[in-house]
Amino acid sequence: MHREDFNILNDNIIYFDNGATSLKPKCVLDSITKYYNEYPMNAHRGDYKLSMITSNLYEKTRDKVRDFIGAKDSKEIVFTSGTTESLNIIIKGYFKHVLNEGDEVIISKGEHASLLLPFLELEKEIGIKLVYANLDENYKLTLDSISQKVTNKTKVIALSHISNVIGDKRDIESICELAHKNNILVVVDAAQSLGHTLVDVTSMDIDFLAGSAHKMCGPMGVGILYAKEYLMKDIRPVVTGGGITVSFSNDEIVYKDYPFNLEAGTRNVPGVIALGDTIDYINSIGVNNIEEYVSDLRKYLITKLSKLDNLDIYNKDIDGTTIIFNVKGVFAQDTSLYLDKKNICVRSGDHCDKMLHEITGVKNTVRVSLYFYNTIEECDKLVEALNNPNILEESLGI
Ligand code: PMP
Repeated sequence: MHREDFNILNDNIIYFDNGATSLKPKCVLDSITKYYNEYPMNAHRGDYKLSMITSNLYEKTRDKVRDFIGAKDSKEIVFTSGTTESLNIIIKGYFKHVLNEGDEVIISKGEHASLLLPFLELEKEIGIKLVYANLDENYKLTLDSISQKVTNKTKVIALSHISNVIGDKRDIESICELAHKNNILVVVDAAQSLGHTLVDVTSMDIDFLAGSAHKMCGPMGVGILYAKEYLMKDIRPVVTGGGITVSFSNDEIVYKDYPFNLEAGTRNVPGVIALGDTIDYINSIGVNNIEEYVSDLRKYLITKLSKLDNLDIYNKDIDGTTIIFNVKGVFAQDTSLYLDKKNICVRSGDHCDKMLHEITGVKNTVRVSLYFYNTIEECDKLVEALNNPNILEESLGI
């Protein structure tokens, strides 16, 4: 779908690494160029017309994000550099100050480093306990596996909406319901779900959410942090500097109201404005249409790949966007290099999850991650390339 919107898509490239980052359509690139050509000012820094245009567009994106994720108020949205920064602010600017020794955080070994690492640091710093929910036989994280770990010490459940490795979509609504019955807060890493499936923080009752523009056709270096307003007001700035205070002196620091107290320094203004255009673009296609298309494409590809007897596929039985596999006897990176010779881009390695292998027993895998501009023809070319007994030899050039 919509391949014509992407300058880079032509016969010479098959891009199957959307889990790492998505391609950018012309309208997003045009938005960035327009900013630099027409109103390249800072936001919230100048009392002149051009700067006000910039500030208005910047704030308009906040409203668009609010509507896109179903938040109640634009004040619940902070612009960050990406999911990683958002999660760090949530964990170090909020949970670090409210959790105590012995408090438990339910998480899984199938999470991204940007969620696991800040909590692991809190484990060392203040003695909270990370409790790992089991993954089921298909490596999925389920409501059941989480509920089994809930105790009267559980204070947080932290998980991605869609895993970036296994690719399973978690039942966030039910998990939040379970959590709230037990006075537990839920942190959702939506890096792989924004622009891929519907996210509605209000109907799902999500407490904290983090996401990145670049995984949904938006620019690099822009992310969002959402928190319910009563929680947002207690998040402390992790980075301090210009733009976040009303006044400061030796005696007192008076911070601005949220969300501005969490946006220190010059922001990625063109990126934020382009995120607004990205949201318009994604809405014009429809998130439900995207999800349905990608799900059908994955079903097609997994059926074809399953017929190849030289592959070990690790996440056959999920309905998601990724396929992770290895060619028997071939190191994952060698498979990527082999596919690259055929202009097929895939990711290989641990995909920023250094604990999942403790469960799957496999450290490195090849990951194919799909988005709406991928096609059946591209899938066929991948299958054809992998249907080859000499992949190792060809990747090493021997
Ligand atoms: N969480 C998940 C599930 C991800 O896939 C990623 C990106 N690979 C991140 C967090 C981090 O996102 P970013 O690099 O945009 O901060």
